[in-house]
Amino acid sequence: MASAQDYVPGEVIVKLKDQPGAQSNFMGKASSQKSMNLKKSFSRLNMYHYKLSKGQSVPQMVQELKNDPNVEYAEPNYIIEKQSSEIHGDVLSFSDIQELAKSEGKLESSTVEMGLEQARQSMSATSVKPIIAVIDTGLDIDHPVFVQSKAVWSNSGEIPGNGIDDDGNGFVDDVNGWNFVANSGVMFDDDDHGTHVAGTILSVVVDIFDFPVEESPFKIMPLKFLDSSGIGSTSDAISAIEYALANGATILNNSWGGPSYSVSLHEAVAVSYSSGASFIAAAGNLASNNDSAPMYPASFDVPNVVSIAATTGSDSLASFSNYGFNTVHVGSPGVYVLSTVDGGGFGYMSGTSMATPYVAGIAGMIKHEQSSMLGYQMKEIIEDTADAVSPLSGKVQTESRVNASAALAAAQGANVDGSQPGYDVNSGYRGSASAEQTAGGCGLVSKMAYDRYNNNGRGGKGGGNSILKNGKEMHVKDVKQNTLFFKLFAFALLGLPMLMAMFMKRNIAPSERRRHERFEISSQVSMKVGDKQLVGSVSSISLGGLKVDTDAMLEQGGIIRMSIESPDGNEKVEVAGKVVWSQERQSYGVAFEEANSKVLNTISGWTSGLKKAAG
Ligand code: CA
Repeated sequence: MASAQDYVPGEVIVKLKDQPGAQSNFMGKASSQKSMNLKKSFSRLNMYHYKLSKGQSVPQMVQELKNDPNVEYAEPNYIIEKQSSEIHGDVLSFSDIQELAKSEGKLESSTVEMGLEQARQSMSATSVKPIIAVIDTGLDIDHPVFVQSKAVWSNSGEIPGNGIDDDGNGFVDDVNGWNFVANSGVMFDDDDHGTHVAGTILSVVVDIFDFPVEESPFKIMPLKFLDSSGIGSTSDAISAIEYALANGATILNNSWGGPSYSVSLHEAVAVSYSSGASFIAAAGNLASNNDSAPMYPASFDVPNVVSIAATTGSDSLASFSNYGFNTVHVGSPGVYVLSTVDGGGFGYMSGTSMATPYVAGIAGMIKHEQSSMLGYQMKEIIEDTADAVSPLSGKVQTESRVNASAALAAAQGANVDGSQPGYDVNSGYRGSASAEQTAGGCGLVSKMAYDRYNNNGRGGKGGGNSILKNGKEMHVKDVKQNTLFFKLFAFALLGLPMLMAMFMKRNIAPSERRRHERFEISSQVSMKVGDKQLVGSVSSISLGGLKVDTDAMLEQGGIIRMSIESPDGNEKVEVAGKVVWSQERQSYGVAFEEANSKVLNTISGWTSGLKKAAG
């Protein structure tokens, strides 16, 4: 049982046994004897979402339901959340973007790799547009980037605003997707997260900073299940997955997660696999090892799930990113990603949430070229074409960062075999099981998983058991295997501060919100103030600014031009800053002014090897 805070109070999810009479026996009893009210049914999965009556305890009711002969399992309705930072700095308008483009030469999304533009030109002219579901906080469907690219999915069977479920799919006026928070077809994004994610997906195939934006070769189906704080429930996540699959989405982007294992979510993801869809999921932002402390849905061992770690501009693992040699598959750029935000602007965000949509965009390219390709085959192409990068050695299964151009080329040359192995949630590999257990008593998929762990071509580090053992020795420090311990731990670490930050978000000044992790550094800076040239040493740095020690006097509020050296003295970045505080006229806090993505990527490359500063 999980901690008291990580599930929706007063709600349970129940799966009934597949036996005659189970449904009628249970339904009657649930309302008459247990005073539970049915909120939602997932009939395809034989699962039901119930609201308990006031005062009933979730743990007690889960136990009671498990003893019911009609019930296969019962569990709390776990809470899950987005996996990203807030926007770094200010929201940029389209004209800001043009200014930035002038100063940087051609502006591309910070995730987009060299050569991708040429690769895009080779995409076939098919009219087949794969549908990518963005299961998230919603989408600003009026953002010029989405309007010009015509990227937003529209339900051709639905007549807008007539109050009728024209296509009979169970949703009234679901013109562009569905909002499971408000239970409405009106689509908006009250958090920025979903809009940012969708922009990154699009940025893989078109230049989102070049207006008018080209027409998108795929469609984005926004499904809102996270609220304005980026928080949602397992029940709504399952609803969104079901909607996506029932309405034609073949790629599902999941930039969210939580540490609690849910059988019902696992089953829903397994259905996405049997439907042939691709399920791309964020590994999480706890800087922890998913092999020992899983993050779901990324850690489900379902063969179509691709679990994504975030990398920096210099291909290091991002300081916040989860990793896991056995359960996280591949790295993707996720630090200071510039993309669309709510209200028509652009902003920088970081997170495995930002790394995931880049891979979803690659999956979209693959599916565009090979419309019959299945989810697990798209995963194979993404993994096999990724570039090995040494900082990911031992950190992710492929030890590689994705390569969109190579994935596209491989998809174009692939022969598609329409068969896929079966999968059963009860026998699949679980994050906490050992390789020996997995190999012992399981079916085809587990065997595949085991073979993969043992024969990882690019890993080349010997036998499976020793990889696991070494992996544990390398990565697991004092985190106990005990799941209860971990759930409490993770929620305290991630959930509560995030929740508090979210509740406070609307009430604090923008400058207060821009909190960045600081790192201890020892390097030099030369500064230009007016026409004076000064020198100083840098003792700590973050993506928001730095602390300078100097004998020169700097005026608070003054603007200085800085040339900051890397710790090894081999690299320099030029950036302007504003003096925001001083200490005894020898230490100064300088906040970056308009640092561009190149500068921030370089700094984030430096900090990946540095110690976090205290306080
Ligand atoms: Ca409908």
